[in-house]
Amino acid sequence: MNRKNLLDQLAHTHTLAFEDFIDLLAHQDEELQAYAAGLAVKTTQCYYGNKVFSRGLIEFTNICQNNCYYCGIRASNENVQRYRLSDEQILQCAATGYELGFRTFVLQGGEDPYYTDDRICHLVQQLKYKHPDCAITLSIGEKSPESYKRYRQAGAERYLLRHETATPAHYHKLHPPSMSAENRYGCLRTLKALGFQTGAGFMVGSPWQTSEDLARDLIFLHELQPEMVGIGPFIPAAGTPFAQQPAGTLDQTLFLLSLIRLLLPEVLLPATTALGTIDPRGREKGILAGANVVMPNLSPRNVRAKYQLYDNKICTGEEAAECIVCLTKRMKSVGRELAVDRGDNVRYMKMKEEPYCV
Ligand code: SAH
Repeated sequence: MNRKNLLDQLAHTHTLAFEDFIDLLAHQDEELQAYAAGLAVKTTQCYYGNKVFSRGLIEFTNICQNNCYYCGIRASNENVQRYRLSDEQILQCAATGYELGFRTFVLQGGEDPYYTDDRICHLVQQLKYKHPDCAITLSIGEKSPESYKRYRQAGAERYLLRHETATPAHYHKLHPPSMSAENRYGCLRTLKALGFQTGAGFMVGSPWQTSEDLARDLIFLHELQPEMVGIGPFIPAAGTPFAQQPAGTLDQTLFLLSLIRLLLPEVLLPATTALGTIDPRGREKGILAGANVVMPNLSPRNVRAKYQLYDNKICTGEEAAECIVCLTKRMKSVGRELAVDRGDNVRYMKMKEEPYCV
């Protein structure tokens, strides 16, 4: 079938056969990419109009017990100066963010054993107490179902855990033997079952990734039906086993953003910092490919450069207020408006409202 017809089919049915995804991924060119982006932007605007949602990212610890081969803050990277923010510092970041118009805070960190479930729950409760109109998102890795349940009960309503790759054999090339693909996928199913708005995702161009792997990622997303999907190019990080590997490309990331928008039309899809790192206008280009979320950094300026998941990460020198001014301008330059809003997935809002509608 003509490949544009395949994209039309994806836009209407929100799914394609495995072979069709491979065919699209293997034959990406400028024309196909532009066609996919056109359909994707139309879909985004249909659900979310001109609004782009912002999430205030608080990178609260770079201490990690894991050793993912790609990640700059992996436990064995001895070049990293480690830090951990206090509850007071985290609450201060959120208070500053609230003033700037953020209504979602994302707490992201390494898998730091200091943050026991009691500490995480206490932190979430304090944030919810101070900012009851804000959504709290956690991105702190793989935990037990009991822990996830406690976070949910404490008031966290969203959780980001990229699946990294839906191909177990590929997963095992990116992670040490102590980590398992099955456990990660199981965590995502648990998060969904507990009612978290759940975010999955993967790196584009991670070492040894094939079109087949990416096609499996898309099928995986279709099966999981996450509310959010985070994708960005893989970027090598100094001091890691993958320091010499080539980075993922801008164009392949943009094409995948468009495919994901067509696959999951209501999904919350960030134009990530990694995308802004490989291209000076990467985030704007991401929006023009179907993304509808940006995640500026709210971490204190003195720790930002230490949360170096990959080399040359942008926005490590600015204050939060500067980032919001810059991003507002960037979004305006592509005809979008940065919204002061929790930015829930519209599907989730429909679900919440259903009992009142009937
Ligand atoms: N510890 C948390 C947060 C991880 S950092 C967790 O396990 O979920 C968030 C994401 O950054 C990761 O899921 C990974 O996809 C991405 N990341 C890590 N290293 C990267 C690199 N070198 N290039 C691009 N993205 C990277």
